[in-house]
Amino acid sequence: MPARRDTALLDLPTEPLDRLAGVGPRVAAKLQARGLYTLQDLWLHLPLRYEDRTSLVRIRDLLPGTAAQVEGRVEAVERGFRYRPVLRVALTDDSGATVVLRFFHFRAAQVAQFAVGTRLVCYGTPRPGQHGLEIVHPSYRVLGDDEHVALGQALDPVYPAVEGIGPATLRKLIGQALDRLPSEASLELLPPGLLNGLSLPPLREALLTMHRPPASADLAALAAGTHPAQRRLAMEELLAHHLSLRRQRISLQRHRAPALRGDGKLVQSLRQSLPFRLTAAQERVFNEIRADLARSHPMLRLVQGDVGSGKTVVAALAAMLAVEQGRQVALAAPTELLAEQHLANLRGWLEPLGINVAWLAGKVTGKARTKVLESVASGEAQVVVGTHALMQEQVVFRDLALAIVDEQHRFGVHQRLALRDKGAAAGTVPHQLVMTATPIPRTLAMAAYSDLDVSAIDELPPGRTPVHTIVISAERRPELVERIRVACAEGRQAYWVCTLIDESDEVVATAAQNTFEALSAQLPELRIGLVHGRMKTADKQAAMRAFKQGETDLLVATTVIEVGVDVPNASLMIIENAERLGLAQLHQLRGRVGRGAAASRCVLMYQPPLSAMARQRLETMRQTNDGFVIAEKDLELRGPGELLGTRQTGLASFRVADLARDAALLPHIQAFGEQVLQQSPELADRIVARWIGGAVRYAAA
Ligand code: ADP
Ligand code: MG
Repeated sequence: MPARRDTALLDLPTEPLDRLAGVGPRVAAKLQARGLYTLQDLWLHLPLRYEDRTSLVRIRDLLPGTAAQVEGRVEAVERGFRYRPVLRVALTDDSGATVVLRFFHFRAAQVAQFAVGTRLVCYGTPRPGQHGLEIVHPSYRVLGDDEHVALGQALDPVYPAVEGIGPATLRKLIGQALDRLPSEASLELLPPGLLNGLSLPPLREALLTMHRPPASADLAALAAGTHPAQRRLAMEELLAHHLSLRRQRISLQRHRAPALRGDGKLVQSLRQSLPFRLTAAQERVFNEIRADLARSHPMLRLVQGDVGSGKTVVAALAAMLAVEQGRQVALAAPTELLAEQHLANLRGWLEPLGINVAWLAGKVTGKARTKVLESVASGEAQVVVGTHALMQEQVVFRDLALAIVDEQHRFGVHQRLALRDKGAAAGTVPHQLVMTATPIPRTLAMAAYSDLDVSAIDELPPGRTPVHTIVISAERRPELVERIRVACAEGRQAYWVCTLIDESDEVVATAAQNTFEALSAQLPELRIGLVHGRMKTADKQAAMRAFKQGETDLLVATTVIEVGVDVPNASLMIIENAERLGLAQLHQLRGRVGRGAAASRCVLMYQPPLSAMARQRLETMRQTNDGFVIAEKDLELRGPGELLGTRQTGLASFRVADLARDAALLPHIQAFGEQVLQQSPELADRIVARWIGGAVRYAAA
C-alpha cells in the first residue's frame, strides 16, 4: 500500500473547480454538466489526440494525410458558390509550392483577413484536392509582417469538447489544474511494486505525459493507446471499475434471501417427465445454482450457454426449488416471441405437475391483466412468465424468491434491478439467475461481470450435427431457390431471413413482404409463411405455430426469429444481406437450425462488394460454430464497447482503457483488487471515487 499522506494534500484532488482562476458559477455549471467537478476530474479529462506545432514544415514537404504546421503568404483568394459557399486561399512559402486552404463556413471578416500577401501560420491535415494538396478548415493565425512563429515546446493536446467552453479556455483550465498536481507520493494510489513489475510510470508522470507530451513522445504509441502512460491510466481505471462492481456485489451479499432447501420432490418429478437426460454440463450448472439457492444470501449468477445448449430446462429446474417452498418465480424474456416460447415450454413441463404458470406481457390488458396481477399478488401464480411488463411497478408479488432473466444483455441493468426489487416487500432480496446465449470472452467476463458468478453450459445435447455454413454472393440467388425446392421436397423446412440494418420495422417488413411474394411466385408448390415485427401478435403467433407444426415448408422472416424459435425439423437457413449483421446476431440466427438430427445448412448471402471487416465476419461464421470462438473474434473486430453495449454496463464509457487492448492487465487487476478490498477499503473508495466518482454516478449504481 502507498505511503502515509499529508491530510491537507488529501483534499486537493477533490477541490472544487470554482477555485480556479476564470471559473465563476456559469463556467462551473458548464463543467459540471460534462461531469467535471473537481481538480482531479480535470486531470483525468484526457486529450483525444495531439497536434504537433513543435516544428514548421515546408509546403513542398507536406505529405497527404499527415498533419503539419506551415507558414506562408496568401497568394490568391477565391470565393465560389458552386454547390455551397466556399472560400479558397492559396498559401505559398519559400519552397515555391502552394497549398490550398479551403473553408466552407466563414464570415465576411474572415474573408477580409486573407488579403493577398498576408502572412499566415496554420495547422491541419493536407489531402489531395483538385489543384494539388489542400487543407480543409485549418486552424490558423494571421502573423504580423516581422512576427516570428513561436514553436511549441510540447505537443498540443486536443480535448474532448465541453459545451459552452471554448477549446482555448478549456486548455487553460486544465493547464491550471495540472500546475497544481501534487507530489508523486501524495497522488499515487497504486503500490510502486505493482507498477514497477509492469514497467508502468507513476500517476503523476503518466498524467503529465498525456497532457503535455514532450516533442520526442512516441506519437504513434499515443495514437494507438499503447503508450506506457496510457497503460498506466488504463490499469487504474480498470481497477476502479473492478472494485466498484465488487463492492456492489459485497453490498448485495449483505441482504438476506430466502434459503431454498426443499426436499427436491418437484425437481425429481420434472426430471422424470423430461423426454431427455440432462447433459453433464446442465447437471453441473444446475448443481451450482442449487448450492447458491440453499444459502440465505441472494444468488447473482449468470449462465452462459450457446444457442441450443438447453438453458431453459435448467432454469425450470431452478424454479422448482422455489415452488417447492411455496414461493414464486418470475421469468422475463426480452421479446414477446421468446417469452411466449418459454411460456409454452414451462406450461408443457410444469402444468402436468400441478403448477400454475401465469403470463404477463404488454399486450395483456383490461380484465385479463387485472386477473393476472391479482394472481401474482395472491401467490396463486407460482411461476410468472413475461416480458418487460413483469418489471413494471404495478406488478406486486406475494413472495418472489427467484427472478430469472433470459438474454440478459438485451435488458438494461436497471430493468434487471427493478425485477430484483420486487422481492423487497418480503424483507428479502430474490435470488437472480441471468442467462445469455451471447457468450463473452473470459477476459471480458471477468471485467464486465465481477459482480456476478458465472456458469457455462459448454456442451450441446447429444445427437445434433453441426451446421454447415456457406457464404455466397446474392448473384447466386436462383441456385438457392432450387436448394430450398429440393430440401422441402425431402420433407425438410427452411427459413429465409430478410435483414436490413438501421431501417425502420416498416421498411424491413416491406422487404420481407416482397421476398415472400417473390418466393411464392418462384416456388408455387411450397407452403410459405411470413413473420415480421409489424404483424399483429396473433398473426405472428399463428405463422410461427404453423411452421412449428410443419404446416408451412418455408418461413420468410425478419430477425424477429433471432431468439426463441425452436423447430428441430428446420434444417436450412438463408440469411440475406448477411454482411450487414454482426457476428453475435449471425450466430444467434444460425442457432435456429441444427436443432434436430438432420444435417443442417446455413447460407450467408451477401451483396458484393464485401468490406474487409464483413469478409472476416462471414469467414469466421464459415469456420466455426463455437459461440466462444465467435465472441473472441467479435471482440477483436468490434471492440468491447459494442460487444457489451452501453445499456448493459458502463464499460463503454472508459476514458482510457480498452478491454481488448488492455486485456493483459486484467489478471493483475483482479489479484490486486482483492488485496485492496481486504486490506484497505478506504483505498478502494478513493480509487473508485477518482475514476467513477461523482455523487451522481454513485447513486446510479
Ligand atoms: P437455449 O440454451 O438456446 O435456450 P433451449 O433451452 O431452447 O436452448 O433448448 C434447445 C432445445 O434442446 C429444446 O428443444 C430443449 O427441449 C432441448 N434440450 C434441452 N436439454 C436437452 C438435453 N439434455 N437433451 C436433449 N434435448 C435437450
Ligand atoms: Mg433460450
